[in-house]
Amino acid sequence: MATCKECKCFFGQEDGSEKGDCVQRVVDPRQAYYKAKPVEADQDASSCSSFQRGK
Ligand code: SF4
Repeated sequence: MATCKECKCFFGQEDGSEKGDCVQRVVDPRQAYYKAKPVEADQDASSCSSFQRGK
């Protein structure tokens, strides 16, 4: 099972805890920006359409 910590969008906490942030670059016709939300490192990524294997 893929989890968030294997995803390029996941940025873990410095203290190595199981929490981190999902940071995604969003591009719409007028601007590009970053969107962040808290996630768990072991969260199931199989249902996430933005998952990108990276780590
Ligand atoms: S929620 Fe989706 S995009 Fe964000 S870190 Fe997890 S798998 Fe990646």
